[in-house]
Amino acid sequence: MLNLVLFGPPGAGKGTQSAHLVSHYQLIHLSTGDLLRSEIAAGTKLGLEAKHLMDQGLLVPDEVVIGMIRSKLETNPDAKGFIFDGFPRTIPQAEALDNLLSDVGTSIKAMLALEVNEEELIKRLLNRGKDSGRSDDQDVEIIRKRINEYNAKTAPVAAHYNAQEKFRSILGIGSIDDIFDALRKAID
Ligand code: ADP
Repeated sequence: MLNLVLFGPPGAGKGTQSAHLVSHYQLIHLSTGDLLRSEIAAGTKLGLEAKHLMDQGLLVPDEVVIGMIRSKLETNPDAKGFIFDGFPRTIPQAEALDNLLSDVGTSIKAMLALEVNEEELIKRLLNRGKDSGRSDDQDVEIIRKRINEYNAKTAPVAAHYNAQEKFRSILGIGSIDDIFDALRKAID
């Protein structure tokens, strides 16, 4: 199986590049942000609780996102591989993911990290907020909070995969095609 973690701060382009990787390598895309937004749209209890945190730019609890990923892995036993987008976002999530994959005899092949500076991230997110309808993209203070959460809790996950010699850094600025080519080279 080809299991990849697409890593990087909010606005780094993980969603855009995931779509290209999914069609090129026939992977299943698992975005915890998308899964949480589906729960919100469906009006579930989990969605209501998550919305409250997401609207403040805070992470939702580890056990919530780990549970969602576990159930997606269970319902796709014949997948060629998965691309994890926006997950794992904390060290406990990374440890849980390693264990879930090892239980089914597989592992993460690589963590691909898109590097984009903070000024560019804020610009992209405010721009996306204009038509995405995402309230967390429309307020610069909430965007800063998300970047702070990333620096405090998510950035350390890179060291977890670096210790396994799986970490690859890719410049996330340039054309979508050029960034995709760099990702492909890192994978192949
Ligand atoms: P972005 O990467 O642009 O912030 P996402 O859709 O990945 O967008 O995430 C949106 C929000 O969903 C996050 O700010 C957080 O509140 C929540 N979220 C998504 N994935 C996770 C996760 N793995 N752990 C905790 N919270 C998450």
